[in-house]
Amino acid sequence: MPAVYLDHNATTPLDPRVARAMTPFLSEWFGNPHSPHETGRTARAAVEDAREETARALACDPDEVIFTSGGTEADNLALRGVMLAARQACDGRAPGPPLVLVTSGAEHPAVVETAQALAREGFPLVAAACSHTGAVTVAALEEALDRAAEIGQPALVSLMLANNETGALSPARELAALAHSRGALFHTDAVQALGKAEVSFRNVAADLLSISAHKIGGPKGAGALLVKRGTPLIPAITGGTQERGLRGGTVNVPAVVGLGEAVALAVRERAANEARVAALAYRLLERASRAAPAMRVNGPTAGGARLAGTWNLRFPGWSGEEMLVRLDLRGVHVSLGAACHSMAARPSHVLLAMGLSEEEARSSVRFSLGPANTEEEMDYVADVLEEVLSPR
Ligand code: PLP
Repeated sequence: MPAVYLDHNATTPLDPRVARAMTPFLSEWFGNPHSPHETGRTARAAVEDAREETARALACDPDEVIFTSGGTEADNLALRGVMLAARQACDGRAPGPPLVLVTSGAEHPAVVETAQALAREGFPLVAAACSHTGAVTVAALEEALDRAAEIGQPALVSLMLANNETGALSPARELAALAHSRGALFHTDAVQALGKAEVSFRNVAADLLSISAHKIGGPKGAGALLVKRGTPLIPAITGGTQERGLRGGTVNVPAVVGLGEAVALAVRERAANEARVAALAYRLLERASRAAPAMRVNGPTAGGARLAGTWNLRFPGWSGEEMLVRLDLRGVHVSLGAACHSMAARPSHVLLAMGLSEEEARSSVRFSLGPANTEEEMDYVADVLEEVLSPR
């Protein structure tokens, strides 16, 4: 059996249809989209087509799409952009209350670490408690906003749409409405939700929303921040008027073309992919729980508010790291959590934020499925788990 890839939340293979769309822009159509001549205009038309495609798929206007180098940059632009703009708006006036950023401990490091950096720059940070599934409830945000209001003015709430480690979906629409009712803007990281759950900028009524291409069959190094028209934002990268002055630098045309194609395909094929991935996941879970009766799900259980293909499983008495190695030796590729931290000795910050002990977090492994996985692969992985977990 060739390697079985169950780490789709880390990255996905490039969809051949996306590769085909990108190829001409890696060779003959090489123009700078900001040049005035025909070579430039060809590239510019492709960038604008990708912007329209992205906007149509995600229910926003094309001029609300700001292309970035990926999800991490989109999250940075959202958090830094809003907080610095809010501070700038206060400049010159009598000192007002501190501007507070509200997020949770279960966010991706792109949000957690940016929020911590902003805290060091004078923006107090309040963490909303996350539930045992990895999502933040409306009640938990309400409590966090009360605490934020005691410190100053809540300026921005940033809470993800789907958790990358547990697959928990958040009630984003309700969270956004609550943030707005307290005078704060709302950002959601939809990097893992896209292609796996409904992502509609209008329906969520967010002010800012991050996406990334390589999680949905697109190229690495491409993403976007959706920015509701009129949202005050300071650019994170200066040095040009590209992307409405919010992101300086020559646009990466092949990557943006790939992003547009990948977003359109992910949204169009979501329902079919979701059904397929759910059936595969239940097949694997059913057999895995027979092989390891002590196995537990970290996050929402089957049928809960969750992504169909993201399963964080805990194997009491086992080391997740050791399991990862043993599975790898048998050609099964899984992870311990976010790829950017998977080599770290620290246990997952998401699992700890959910209330798991260090030991429980260390005995957990993430399986993230994709639509190209097969039933045979699931049966093979279940056999491997049975072998790996047989009494030592
Ligand atoms: N946000 C979430 C929820 C993610 O899972 C990831 C990637 O793992 C990112 C942001 C970062 O995206 P990128 O790799 O495009 O920078």
